[in-house]
Parts: sequence; structure tokens; C-alpha cells
Amino acid sequence: LEVPNNPIIPYIEGDGIGPEIAPAMIMVVNKAVEKAYGGSRAIYWVELLAGDKAEEKTGERMPKETLEVLKEAIVAIKGPLGTPVGKGGKSLNAILRQSMDFYSAIRPVYWLGQPSPIPNPERVNVAVFRENSDDVYMAIEFMPRDEKTQKVRKFLIEEMGVSEYALPEDCGITVKPMSEWKTKRHVRKALRYALENNKKVVAVVGKGNIMKATEGAFMNWAFEVAKEPEFEGKVITEGEPKDGQVLMVKVITDQMLMQLVLKPEAYDVIITQNLNGDYISDLASALVGGPGFVPSGNIGDGYALFESTHGTAYDIAGKGIANPLSLTLSGAMMLEYLGWKEAAQLIYDAVKRAIEDKVGTPDIANGFKKMGISAKALSTIDFAK
Ligand code: NAD
Repeated sequence: LEVPNNPIIPYIEGDGIGPEIAPAMIMVVNKAVEKAYGGSRAIYWVELLAGDKAEEKTGERMPKETLEVLKEAIVAIKGPLGTPVGKGGKSLNAILRQSMDFYSAIRPVYWLGQPSPIPNPERVNVAVFRENSDDVYMAIEFMPRDEKTQKVRKFLIEEMGVSEYALPEDCGITVKPMSEWKTKRHVRKALRYALENNKKVVAVVGKGNIMKATEGAFMNWAFEVAKEPEFEGKVITEGEPKDGQVLMVKVITDQMLMQLVLKPEAYDVIITQNLNGDYISDLASALVGGPGFVPSGNIGDGYALFESTHGTAYDIAGKGIANPLSLTLSGAMMLEYLGWKEAAQLIYDAVKRAIEDKVGTPDIANGFKKMGISAKALSTIDFAK
């Protein structure tokens, strides 16, 4: 990636707690860049409108200009965007991911010392690669008793030999498309990440034993990618991985969910589909205290969008107590993606130190207090400082 010393980075503040956590993230990222490079590098931040703020100013929740600027950027970062309930319309996150073709979502889950529900949470260090452009999220749905649903049923029963037992008159139908090219480009991204970051065990996860045409095909395509010239000798499918190699294994989803809780150290990278990725990344995040502590990135070809993993938290918006860590760690992940690893490391070290010192926003402090450990609660901006 060719990155200028003064890159322009667009950001979307986000709804709810967005206007509180975005300035906190920018403050920390700017400080880390300044400390790491002593003024020879600096980010020019450009705000893009989306969500509530955009609606207020332009009447649209996702203005065209926002998408146009994002298309020109190497990277961008965003806070959470709310989907108004009952107004109809697609989620802004889905619009962003699909119109920009951010086809891989990466959630690296590791423990920084915060309260966790499992013993020895230092065992958790796993990057979940969730395919972002396929699967039931394509929203091809036929609602129960709808006229179109009856047409689809009739076709499947009369032309395709599906039994009426499987498709009773009152059923709804969701289509689950999964394609070879979308799967393979996602798997390649995940394998490159695994090799670049010296990971050892990569699990391809799905319920291929039940959904052979989709999750089963995904798992087989992943193993085909392992045989491509780029990965030959580097991705092995049996034996012990040597330096510079990763071992790729197949794991059924339910088995993986159990393993993550009981033996999280067993896997370094998980490659999976959209829906399984949703479940798995939330479970993995819960192991280290919840999504509030976990960053995430959406990667396409040539550009990436980093974002917090939690929602808008409207219930605490405006109180100045939101936890800025997920967005700030996403900022660190963005710096790493740009190759500015020294600045990213300063952020990871600072977060670790703050947690070691038992200071944080009220949610962090309360987590420690529940464990009988005294901790100091700070406002969002004081914590960032
Ligand atoms: P939420 O994450 O907003 O809130 C769940 C609970 O966690 C709340 O009690 C909230 O106060 C708390 N919480 C969340 N983030 C926090 C933080 N940083 N610091 C302290 N506490 C925090 O989830 P929700 O209520 O299900 O969703 C609210 C809205 O957010 C919905 O409109 C949803 O569509 C949207 N959402 C957006 C994204 C995204 O933009 N990527 C992700 C999830 C949900």
C-alpha cells in the first residue's frame, strides 16, 4: 500500500454516542502518530456525513457525496450508525458494505486485561474473517403467505421435486446464495493476513455437513485456494506448520462455538461465511469482555473501512460516559493497515496500561468493581486523554 506522509482520512462520526467516541479516537490516533513520527507524518481528517447528522443537514441518511468520497479513499473510519425502527429502509451499514464491496470483515479478538467471563482470557487471540457480501444477508426473502412465496413454492414443488412437507403453504423462504468467486477472494485475504502475521492454525468454519450447496461448497473452495500457486508450500492441510507456514483445518460451526469457550487457544484465524461470522465474532468478543473492547475492519480491493463493533448506545448518548475503546482500537488497526505499526503499537500499549491501572469509562470500572477490584471511572474524553 502506498501511503503518503499526510494522508487524507475520511471519518463518519456516527449516531448516538458517535459524536463522543469519534473525537476521543481522533485525539488518541493523532497523539500516537505525533509521538511515533515526531511531526514527519500527520493525518488530515475529513468528516463525511451519514446517519442522523446527514439527515438533519441534507435530508438523506447516506448522501451520495459520502459514498463518492469513500470510493476515492484508501482507508476511512466510522462510528456506529443507527437504523431507525419502523421507517423502513435498508441499514446504512449494509448500504456501505455492499455499495463499496467491502467483502471481508475482520475482527481481531485479543485480551488487554479487562474483566472477562472466562478463566485465563490471555488464551484468546483469534482473528475472525467474516465474508461480507454473500449469504442470507443478501435479503432475498419471501414472506409467509405472500403471493410471490406461493409462486416460488409451486416452482420448487412442481418443477424441482421438493416435498410439500418441506414447504408447507404458510412457510416463509430465505435464499442463501454463496458463490465461488466471492468465497475465494475472501479466503485469499484471510490467508494473506495469517501468513503476514505469523499465525499458525486457520480454521475454515461452516455447517457444510447440512448445507452442502453453500457452506459445504465454501469449505471446499477454501481448500482449493490453499492449493493456488500463491499459497503452495505456505498453507498446509495436514502435519505441523513450520515457520512461515499455516495449517488449514475444517471445523463444523457448533464444534467451533464450543471450542472457542473451552479451548480458545486452539485457533488463530477463523475463516467463515456471513451469518456464522456474525455469531462467531460476537461470541469471541464476549470472551474478552464484550464488543466494546474489540475493533473491526471491512476490507475490499484497494480500500478499507474501520469501525466500532457496538451500536449507537442511544441510552447513554450525550452523557459523556461512552467507552471509546472499540473505535480507538479500530483506529489502531487502521494505522497498522497503513503500515504505521509503531503508532498502532503505542495505542495498544496505552490501552493495556490504562486497564492495568484500573482506569476506564464507567462500564470498564463497573466490570472491575463486580470482581471486587477497585477502579477509577472517567469520562470518555478524560479516558482518551
Ligand atoms: P448497542 O450496542 O447500541 O447497545 C447495547 C448496550 O451496550 C446498551 O446498553 C449500550 O449502552 C451499551 N453500549 C454499547 N456501546 C457502548 C459503549 N461504547 N460504551 C458503553 N456502553 C455501550 O446495541 P443496540 O441497542 O442493539 O443497537 C442500537 C442501534 O445501533 C440500532 O439502531 C442498531 O441498528 C445500531 N447498530 C449499529 C452498528 C454499526 O453501526 N456497526 C452495530 C450494531 C448496532
